Amino acid sequence: MSSISSKTKVYSVIGHPVSQSFSPKIHNYLFEKYDIDAVYVSYDVNPDRVKEGIEGIRHLGIMGTNVTIPHKIEVMKYLDEIDKKAKLFGAVNTIKNVDGKLYGYNTDGTGLTKSIRDSSGEDIKGKKVLIIGAGGACRSIAIQLAIEEAASIEIVNRSIEKAQIIADTINSHFETKAIASSKTITQDDIDNVDILINTTPIGMGTDESPIDTSLVPPKNMIVADAVYKPHETALIKWGLKYNLKIAYGIQMLINQGIHSFSIWTGINPTLEDTENILKIFLEQQKNA
Ligand code: NAP
Repeated sequence: MSSISSKTKVYSVIGHPVSQSFSPKIHNYLFEKYDIDAVYVSYDVNPDRVKEGIEGIRHLGIMGTNVTIPHKIEVMKYLDEIDKKAKLFGAVNTIKNVDGKLYGYNTDGTGLTKSIRDSSGEDIKGKKVLIIGAGGACRSIAIQLAIEEAASIEIVNRSIEKAQIIADTINSHFETKAIASSKTITQDDIDNVDILINTTPIGMGTDESPIDTSLVPPKNMIVADAVYKPHETALIKWGLKYNLKIAYGIQMLINQGIHSFSIWTGINPTLEDTENILKIFLEQQKNA
């Protein structure tokens, strides 16, 4: 931001902890790029103070807020209106403050589907998807894939119950056919898959892969990983070895932020913005 004055608007992210968040870099880049007199800051809100945190946002006139772990579900109680999709996701990651009225949205799923479209040039419609993991990230991604008319979604998780709940939600609301399992993924399982997505933390800070890397992927498969540290996870390295199209975890993070920015400002940032923000991330990683 060039200069802060009494007119400068404030946007934020709330979470616990929140000091590691990359969101301030995303939004302060966008405010500067689009010449918006605003600043984006982070607030560490204790889990037993979420209500007070949300009232602070309302009364201090903080214009928009991202919500990160562990508050995405709890904040829903204190908002005035929640978007239909966020209700289905069961979580809010974006709040817009309009004259003291707080509206809740969720951009996590679109963050992933936009990354797939940007990286591969392909739409989700008609695709057969395999998702590993069945936590919060899987829920928003799987429902967004169903909204965008994926043909089928198989959710594989070590404990089947969570995967089954997500599959049941999809089967009762959408045409997409969803199934849940807790099996070990074999060659047969991936032979017909168009998009493989990891939503477990496996690979975060390690060289572990959520699937056996001796499997050979179909040649047009797209690989997406929600994990973004390291930038090239073991799963992504496996995909690169076979020249597959890749949607990186950091693209998902940047794109969910870009969608929040659009909700707040009505501006749709460009692919060049995504690339510039990615450069900032990679530079930060190099210096970490
Ligand atoms: P979550 O709600 O805790 O769910 C994690 C899922 O992974 C659960 O289904 C869990 O299985 C499974 N899992 C965890 N450790 C495992 C292991 N060692 N082996 C097999 N399965 C395991 O977490 P989340 O919010 O979905 O986040 C998942 C990952 O995505 C995290 O690394 C997070 O940082 C990342 N993420 C990235 C973005 C982005 O923008 N790039 C956005 C959201 C999340 P059980 O059900 O059996 O416990």
